Amino acid sequence: MYIVMLGAPGSGKGTAAKILAKRLNLPHISTGDMFREQIKKETELGKLADSYISKGELVPDELTINIVKDRLTWDDTKNGVILDGFPRTKAQAEALDKILEEQGKKVDIVPELIVPDQVIIDRILNRATCSNKECGAIYNIKYKPSKVPGVCDICGAKLVTRTDDNAEAIKNRLEVYRKNVQDLLTYYKEKNVLVSITPKDPTAENASEQAVDEILK
Ligand code: AMP
Repeated sequence: MYIVMLGAPGSGKGTAAKILAKRLNLPHISTGDMFREQIKKETELGKLADSYISKGELVPDELTINIVKDRLTWDDTKNGVILDGFPRTKAQAEALDKILEEQGKKVDIVPELIVPDQVIIDRILNRATCSNKECGAIYNIKYKPSKVPGVCDICGAKLVTRTDDNAEAIKNRLEVYRKNVQDLLTYYKEKNVLVSITPKDPTAENASEQAVDEILK
């Protein structure tokens, strides 16, 4: 099953994507994570991506499409994937369809997580992520804190704050999301694969689990 998760930054789509990936035993592909890995390794691609990401801007389509195209040739993607943060523009959505079509596949379902702005801002400003790439657990200092502050409950690694999780970049990321998502919603609505998910209580600790239950219903 090929699933594209849509949702504003901080809507919980990353957490929901991870849960879905685990439940369906499919790889979780996050373009944001892929870029952050390149930035950490200080590769040329990472340096270029960082010049956009740190300002809350989108990395150019061509660059982004190429890394996803390459990832979708890996063997572990042949039964499906959970895409998180890609596509973000109509050009990326069209490119994804073309890549999948060449493999005789298609996007099966596009859940869109709908969460109020205030919850999003509050969540992003309080977000802490496990620095261990293999783990990547996400905490919220206010709503879902780790047992020991700054330390991951699951693997014991240090928790870090993303460089683009600051008020200025968040404002920009939300604007960029709004500007681009309408095209994507129209695109996937026409293909009859869009499912809107509105978590009853988006601040609940198990909000992402509930969203996944709703997606798999
Ligand atoms: P995320 O972790 O999905 O919030 O992504 C973090 C940042 O990486 C975004 O704000 C963009 O700058 C960049 N990024 C991630 N995915 C994409 C994409 N599909 N297209 C362009 N830029 C992206």
